[in-house]
Amino acid sequence: MKIFKFGGASVKDANGVKNVVNVLKEVGHQDTLLVISAMGKTTNAMEKIVDSYFTDKNQLDLVIQEVVDTHKTIINELFEAKNHEIHNRVNALIEEFKGFLMWNKSPKYAFVYDQVVGYGELLSTTIVSAYLDEVGLNNHWLDVRDLIKTDNSYRDAQVNWERTQKEVTSTVNKNKLNITQGFLGSDENNFTTTLGREGSDYTAAILAYCLKAESVTIWKDVPGVLNADPRHFNETKLLHKISYREAIELAFYGASVIHPKTLQPLQGREIPLHVKSFLNPKEQGTTVGKGTKISPETPCFIVKKNQVLLKLSSLDFSFIVEENMSEIFKLFHDYKLKVDLIQNSAISFSVCLDNKFGGLKEILPVLEQKFKVTHHEAVSLYTIRHFDENSVEKILNGYSVLVEQRGKETIQLVVK
Ligand code: ASP
Repeated sequence: MKIFKFGGASVKDANGVKNVVNVLKEVGHQDTLLVISAMGKTTNAMEKIVDSYFTDKNQLDLVIQEVVDTHKTIINELFEAKNHEIHNRVNALIEEFKGFLMWNKSPKYAFVYDQVVGYGELLSTTIVSAYLDEVGLNNHWLDVRDLIKTDNSYRDAQVNWERTQKEVTSTVNKNKLNITQGFLGSDENNFTTTLGREGSDYTAAILAYCLKAESVTIWKDVPGVLNADPRHFNETKLLHKISYREAIELAFYGASVIHPKTLQPLQGREIPLHVKSFLNPKEQGTTVGKGTKISPETPCFIVKKNQVLLKLSSLDFSFIVEENMSEIFKLFHDYKLKVDLIQNSAISFSVCLDNKFGGLKEILPVLEQKFKVTHHEAVSLYTIRHFDENSVEKILNGYSVLVEQRGKETIQLVVK
């Protein structure tokens, strides 16, 4: 069985949905399971609904209407018949989450979030499934919440692999064209859970693992995995082949092509992952597989902007030892600061941090009680995998380097 994942950008409008059909016709759709995200930016719009529900109920009808309107526009373009069955199905889904919001008594944001936001995926798969039927691609719509069982950590649900394996094996008919939602699961009590933003890649990997699939293909609006983010670098190269290890390293350092959790289940069963363009489906794209050397051999650039460089030294010239370190790391964890790079000497210790949740302001006075603290905000962290002097030169051009760390394959530079 093959797993195809289509993200939000691939089904952002009626033409996108039509293009999914083109892709399926071009590359074949035998024994395939489609995993589909919410259309375009619907997940953001669903988040707005949840926010309004908690903070500004007056806006609620308006933000719900926005979601209804975008989907209605797409349906009207896809289906000619005004009385097509799809209208009832979509209306029923909208009434379902409106009903939930009306009767819900839970004050828990994360719980409510998961019960509501997942309707983005339920709407998109219902529409795409009906359209596939319409053009003669008969398919089987599956509710992924019956397949992927999780704990109840809403918004960051952890998969119960044993139960998921059981449900997938007993439910999915491998000889059909199946279609299901990314991002969602359900807990013990059958409440909807979500796997974290951008989690649909991970859904594809979970299902591939349980089905012992032949391959997973992520269809994107880029030709595959590039050696640098085109938003930050002028010249980019397509990587034809990389290993799981390489892909994990790239994701770890901040490359945003593949959701980091996706690779682990695939590696476990050595299932190849293809990243291809939904605009040119016949092109080769990138294949992530076992032990494959990176090809072409080229430096890969990853940049994280807006980081913080923090330097701690002892107040009395004493050594910074394990005990201090463990205390410092506990504080980073408590204040939700993610450590990107570490460098230490006898009496000082520097870290590059991601201040995503704004914990920096609060941690500084705590650290200042014990250490001499200096910090630079708005620094950039460049990571180059498979670097050579040329590639380093490229980055250094015009910047001053605050920290440099070289390994055999990877160099990291904190620059301002
Ligand atoms: N729709 C979800 C999101 O936008 C999941 C996904 O598309 O991967 O985060």
